[in-house]
Amino acid sequence: MVQKTHRRPGSRPLAFWKIRPDPSLDPTDESRERRDSRAPIRGRDYDKSSWNEILNLDLTRAALIIDASYSCNYHCVYCNLASTNQRPVDWPQVRILVKALALAGLRRAVLSGGEPGIFKESPRILADLASLKIKTTVLTNGIWAKDEGRLEKIVRAGTSGFLVSVKAFDEESIERVTGRRTPDAAWRTALLNFSRQKELGTIEYFGVNHVLTSATLETLAGTFWLDALPVRPQVILSLVEPYTSEMAALVPDPRELQSRLASLFDVWDRLGIDYRVEGMPLCLLGQRWPRSKDRQRLSDHAPRVFIQPGQDRDHVMAFTGYQRLLQFSKFPVCAGCARRGECPGVHKGVRHLYDERLLRPFRG
Ligand code: SF4
Repeated sequence: MVQKTHRRPGSRPLAFWKIRPDPSLDPTDESRERRDSRAPIRGRDYDKSSWNEILNLDLTRAALIIDASYSCNYHCVYCNLASTNQRPVDWPQVRILVKALALAGLRRAVLSGGEPGIFKESPRILADLASLKIKTTVLTNGIWAKDEGRLEKIVRAGTSGFLVSVKAFDEESIERVTGRRTPDAAWRTALLNFSRQKELGTIEYFGVNHVLTSATLETLAGTFWLDALPVRPQVILSLVEPYTSEMAALVPDPRELQSRLASLFDVWDRLGIDYRVEGMPLCLLGQRWPRSKDRQRLSDHAPRVFIQPGQDRDHVMAFTGYQRLLQFSKFPVCAGCARRGECPGVHKGVRHLYDERLLRPFRG
């Protein structure tokens, strides 16, 4: 039964969920490797939860993630949200819960979507979060920020930082990935505007995230342009997750990936660009394996409170950092690897691309 809440007339109820205490969801449990490659989903991998249980989490260590609306100006090839519910969260209702979370110690949030930069309620949500002393990073494709005034409005509302998802580093590749033409001048102006805000000190964090696919591997030299910005962003390179069989074609050939990454990282190191990598087996990164974000997540048991809009109710889901990696698995060859407990391994959907010559277990 869904937990009853105090509601305004006409508001949508909240449904509470928590990750099921299943040993196969524990990254230290070998049975995890026998799971299929789907990410945990509501109804199968989550149990019903309640206001009380959510408020009882260690919220001083928690992060709140709000998918405010699934409307977006792009239709990226790897995105599974394009055809989902178009209703936004019922913010006045959700705000009551967020206020309680803040009183219980929550201080960090991510505003995501969809595209929060084009959602008309985002400034209000950001202002409310700031008034509750919650620092919020906006996860955005950022193209709307080519209009400096629009960016200033979102910053003034109370944003602490931006993680800008750059789809590719030339306009033809961006169109291939997103289905929409975005001139080079437009995305570069947008990034310049974010960088200026960081230079002015109006935001604390400016990062660029790139989802690496076979369609964008050749555009990575375009990242060298980031060196020309007044303040360079932190770069996060995320290997695309092939969560459907059709998406396997989006995963770059690992040998090509390995050789291109080595020369890319050489240049980034020379330029002093701060970068992190996610979703890649550590042995593909070689001596740069400490750059992997996954190794932190595998031992990250800090709570996440994830709020998603639904058709007839909004959903509040509790889980921890390691859950992000549950789609991955490891080969038998990994068994002797000294980094096995820190490595995401190889996604089950593309294991056929890897062999034992490619995966060289770390020793000692
Ligand atoms: S051998 Fe396996 S566990 Fe070790 S770094 Fe490579 S993919 Fe990861």
